[in-house]
Amino acid sequence: MSSSALFNLNTPQRDAVRYMEGPCLVIAGAGSGKTRVITQKIAHLIESGLYEARHIAALTFTNKAAAEMQERIAKLLSSPSQAAELTISTFHSLGVRILRQEAKELGLKERFSIMDADDCFSLIQDMAVTTDRQVIRRIQTRISLWKNALVFPEKALAEAVDEHEGQAARIYASYMATLSAYQAVDFDDLIRLPVELFRQNDAVRDRWQRRMRYLLVDEYQDTNVCQYELVKLLVTGPGKKPMFTAVGDDDQAIYAWRGATAENLKILRDDFPDLELIRLEQNYRSSMHILQAANAVISNNPKIFEKTLWSEMGAGEPVRVSAMDNDETEAEQVAISLSAHRFERRAKFSDYAILYRGNHQARLLETALRRERIPYTISGGQSFFARAEIKDIVSYLRLIANNDDDPAFIRAVTTPKRGVGQATLEALGAYAGRWQCSLFEAVFKGGIEAVLPSRQLQPLRAFCDFINRIEARASRQGAAGSGENAAAVLDDMMAEIAYEPYLYDTFDERNARGKWENVLDFTGWLKEKSLGDRQGGIPEKNLLELTQMVALMTMLEGRDEAPDAVRLSTLHAAKGLEFPHVYLVGVEEGILPHKGDPDTPADVLARRIEEERRLMYVGITRAQRSLQITWCKKRRRGRETEICDMSRFIAEMKLDEGKALPDESETMTPQARLANLKSLLQNPKVA
Ligand code: ATP
Ligand code: MG
Repeated sequence: MSSSALFNLNTPQRDAVRYMEGPCLVIAGAGSGKTRVITQKIAHLIESGLYEARHIAALTFTNKAAAEMQERIAKLLSSPSQAAELTISTFHSLGVRILRQEAKELGLKERFSIMDADDCFSLIQDMAVTTDRQVIRRIQTRISLWKNALVFPEKALAEAVDEHEGQAARIYASYMATLSAYQAVDFDDLIRLPVELFRQNDAVRDRWQRRMRYLLVDEYQDTNVCQYELVKLLVTGPGKKPMFTAVGDDDQAIYAWRGATAENLKILRDDFPDLELIRLEQNYRSSMHILQAANAVISNNPKIFEKTLWSEMGAGEPVRVSAMDNDETEAEQVAISLSAHRFERRAKFSDYAILYRGNHQARLLETALRRERIPYTISGGQSFFARAEIKDIVSYLRLIANNDDDPAFIRAVTTPKRGVGQATLEALGAYAGRWQCSLFEAVFKGGIEAVLPSRQLQPLRAFCDFINRIEARASRQGAAGSGENAAAVLDDMMAEIAYEPYLYDTFDERNARGKWENVLDFTGWLKEKSLGDRQGGIPEKNLLELTQMVALMTMLEGRDEAPDAVRLSTLHAAKGLEFPHVYLVGVEEGILPHKGDPDTPADVLARRIEEERRLMYVGITRAQRSLQITWCKKRRRGRETEICDMSRFIAEMKLDEGKALPDESETMTPQARLANLKSLLQNPKVA
């Protein structure tokens, strides 16, 4: 059996691609071609006629990874259009798909809304007795962990160890009730509800099993209990031979804080005793200096699976470590050094990534990059979707997708102002509460005239009529391109909202212009996404599908655009990606490893440090050819300036064995290098 999908693979990779006897687990370090095995295996399954594309499903960690995978597979197939029939998505997108199709079975409207973390925070805030944001955040995290562990409110309450947990469990109960009243789900529900449905309803489970006959899972180490349960429900059943391929790396497990268990890979082996275990040892990504540093760091963690990684990519450049005076200087120097490096290598901006531990570190970097006129895109933050103007527009889309989405209703009906004030909304809310219906529904409910005089009712009805009109058009438009396209509907909606004049009436000219540009940027991007990509095998989307996609995107990643731009990303969001040149910044004690609660018990702390070390490992192994690490001697925290120490992880890289280059500041400053290069370019004769 041979197909193009088997080319460019080493022996264990080819074994993994060909293995069809039962469940298969590929466990291997970073850059060893695990994701490539998934891609090639899918192509192989199709090309060899073993499975039809529509019966294959692959789960990836980010939407971006899913899109890339689909594109790659299309290129491997003799008939690329088949790629469109594959199900390649994140766990969350798959959940949305299952919920949308099985909504009825769950007593959910097909057009349920997805609440993002901010919406959920507001809900919990309304229920909690405290106003302390940190406490509310902790309750939210607690609820999420319960959900991901498939623990219900009653059980949470019964097992609460102290008053704090008891309170969180009580809020958990009312939080669930409110979500269902809103016909809304949160991110955790996207996986929890399908799991429940499959557990309760064999017919539904069977239907999905027949649809997804072969399952592949990337980044397996970061699945949580709930996600694993979903996988298990899809691949097991009476008389059914479990058929799936999972790939993962225990050294890259970085989501314990979201309920993923580091023991995942072991559990899989226990649950599937005939699991075929395949290891990959050759790294195809990074040059030797980088790989050695990564191996040295991770060797400080206890091992679940023994691994050795080697590479034939050559020694490459030594890893460079630079100490910076403070975080502002760090951002400036990185920007300038990147410019100089790019000149020297004649590289593209998109060859570079700047990686950091926390979102808050992005701000100074953004400023510095803008100053140097370096284009960049941000992922892993919510910086774009969290902007007020974007949330405003999204609230309209959400309301169109689900009339019962009360938080979206309130935001949309009051932005821009259209004569609906607080008093009107309170009266409407009370009425909706009495009738157990949504705000939208209450507007048209008989008897509403008795509580709201027509002066107040009229603008509400006008607003709802507008939403209904757009909604009718949004759903008429066929996903296959018949009927109206998403762009036209979107343009008309924007014109009718009169959002642009609202911005200029409300903000000063400069701000208004900036905000409007963001909106145009957003709607332009939506329109582009609606088109799909026939050759890449990505189907067209209608406005409703776009809305749900946007809700999902806010979670982990930003948008992917700007063809040639430096990527700014958190370490978490950089998982699975690779870049020729990487800057890893802020590598200090307190940042990486992250400073946790000072009262953390020693054993918990030890486990946390191990997780931080894996994060460092993920960071180092994103680099293909060069890796530059910076840390700051001082850093601003709020109004204070803190003295910082170099991270223990830098020492663990064992660079001091004559391999590391001297600190950059001891040779030529990046400014001087850049000036030098620019003058050479302008006056080549001098060279
Ligand atoms: P990570 O753990 O970071 O997710 P991974 O194990 O999934 O890494 P891939 O991203 O699949 O690794 O592969 C890393 C790089 O090596 C990619 O650029 C890939 O194309 C390349 N690669 C993988 N296998 C081979 C091979 N057999 N021959 C040539 N290049 C390969
Ligand atoms: Mg991968």
